[in-house]
Amino acid sequence: MAKKNPAPVQLHAGDLARARVTSAHDVPVRRGRYVLYWLRALRRAEDNLALDHAVHRANELGLPLIVYESLDVRYPYASDRLHTFVLESAVDRRAAIEARGAAYAFFLPRSAEEARSSEALAKLAASAALVVTDWHAPSGPLGAFFSRSASALGARVGVRVESVDDTVGVPMALFAAKHEVGARTIRPKVQKVLEASLVASDEPVVKAARLRELEWAFDPVEPTMDSISSLVASCAIDHTVPPVSSARGTRAEALARLDRFIATRLRAYDEARNDMGERGSSELSAHLHFGVLSGRSVARAARASRAPTEARDSFVEELVVRRALAFNHVMTTPCEGALSHHRYAGAVPEWAQRTLGEHAKDERSTHTFKDWESASTSDPLWNAAQTELLRDGVIQPYARMLWGKVALTLAPSAETAFEWLVVLNDKWALDGRDPNTYTNIALCFGLHDHPYPGRAVFGTVRCMTSKSARTKWDTRAYEARVRAK
Ligand SMILES: Cc1cc2nc3c(=O)[nH]c(=O)nc-3n(C[C@H](O)[C@H](O)[C@H](O)COP(=O)(O)OP(=O)(O)OC[C@H]3O[C@@H](n4cnc5c(N)ncnc54)[C@H](O)[C@@H]3O)c2cc1C
Repeated sequence: MAKKNPAPVQLHAGDLARARVTSAHDVPVRRGRYVLYWLRALRRAEDNLALDHAVHRANELGLPLIVYESLDVRYPYASDRLHTFVLESAVDRRAAIEARGAAYAFFLPRSAEEARSSEALAKLAASAALVVTDWHAPSGPLGAFFSRSASALGARVGVRVESVDDTVGVPMALFAAKHEVGARTIRPKVQKVLEASLVASDEPVVKAARLRELEWAFDPVEPTMDSISSLVASCAIDHTVPPVSSARGTRAEALARLDRFIATRLRAYDEARNDMGERGSSELSAHLHFGVLSGRSVARAARASRAPTEARDSFVEELVVRRALAFNHVMTTPCEGALSHHRYAGAVPEWAQRTLGEHAKDERSTHTFKDWESASTSDPLWNAAQTELLRDGVIQPYARMLWGKVALTLAPSAETAFEWLVVLNDKWALDGRDPNTYTNIALCFGLHDHPYPGRAVFGTVRCMTSKSARTKWDTRAYEARVRAK
């Protein structure tokens, strides 16, 4: 008799909640004065499953909770643009966290020396019974450091560290075992757990009295919209990359953007997202990247809306499926060395490297990095996309794909094009340094795709040109919009 296929394993909310939590340093909880939540990737107090976990653990242990957040000057590309956005996200955070019954402080070291010598986190962890942190994807040049830092802290101080993933919406531990071929292979797996993953936070409150006598080992800052520019000016970071005027990092702005998107743009999203003549997408990527907004809440809001099913599904596809695919790629590709996900040799599939190599000598308009960065190449549409990046820190979704593809025709080699794209995106994009960054740049070079009929320069990598975009979309409206801002 033929064997029946086993019934698919159904994961329930409890299983999914457990899948989000890993022990970054697996030792028993010890005696301590408090539970410490080290807030890193999820820069919000609301609908934050890592903060919720910290509150629940504090309540189980009958201890107070303290929350530590910082912004280091030492990460690559630290600039006025990124510091401003993060500090804006922290306006009012102390009040929101104190309302949950925890103490909170933000450490803003002004120099590398201050960051190194303060030992702020280690000092706080030394008196903790348990450290909870939010899981940080192993993304980009600092990926290995971030993914090791939680376990390194635990080992150094001898404290248990629990790490909670609330980045993509679905628990990424379920999608870490193997490198997915593309959206079609990860989509059914994501869909299986999507509904149960989109739980809303129950916003638990700490029961133990808040610690009032606490030595923070640094002078906490409390950013206000008025004080941020002087705080940023006092930091040893790149002051030549200015803040953007078109986006604030605040939670209020993130919620306003979400409301506007759900009310006006979502209903036509599946058509309008790509239309370069329109602003049809959510413009939420920077807030999602810094965790100011929860992917779960955004997905819930979209699914609950009255927009047509095709539009809702198409949005959730980008927000959860494509994002999970991007995270899967960085989680299953090394983050260090020549074969890492942020280097050409590691990110671009072999078939694509081969065909691009075979076309290495094809004629192209070679430019310098300076031409690229200053948006002065021979391709006006590419320059418009680069101008948008320089000024707004993001690029319209279709223009961004065009920017990544056409780059192949504007650099001395495919490898150089890849490296320059990574540098420009990491340096200028508010949503840069994200798993989406490296995966999508690699996608322009053939990742998660298959060969197409051969073309000059691209070989069998799917080709896109400014000429073809001009026949498809109102690119003049896009260029005018970029010029007008
Ligand atoms: C060359 C290139 C570089 C890119 N670099 C980044 C980057 O640095 N950071 C970044 O967040 N996205 C990046 N993307 C993906 C995508 O272009 C942006 O997420 C999108 O343009 C952001 O605009 P939006 O928030 O209005 O998107 P919407 O269309 O409204 O989508 C909602 C959210 O879904 C996610 N999303 C959308 N498209 C994708 C995608 N293709 N892959 C994974 N997630 C997606 C984003 O979080 C986005 O905010 C890049 C794409 C390309 C082609």
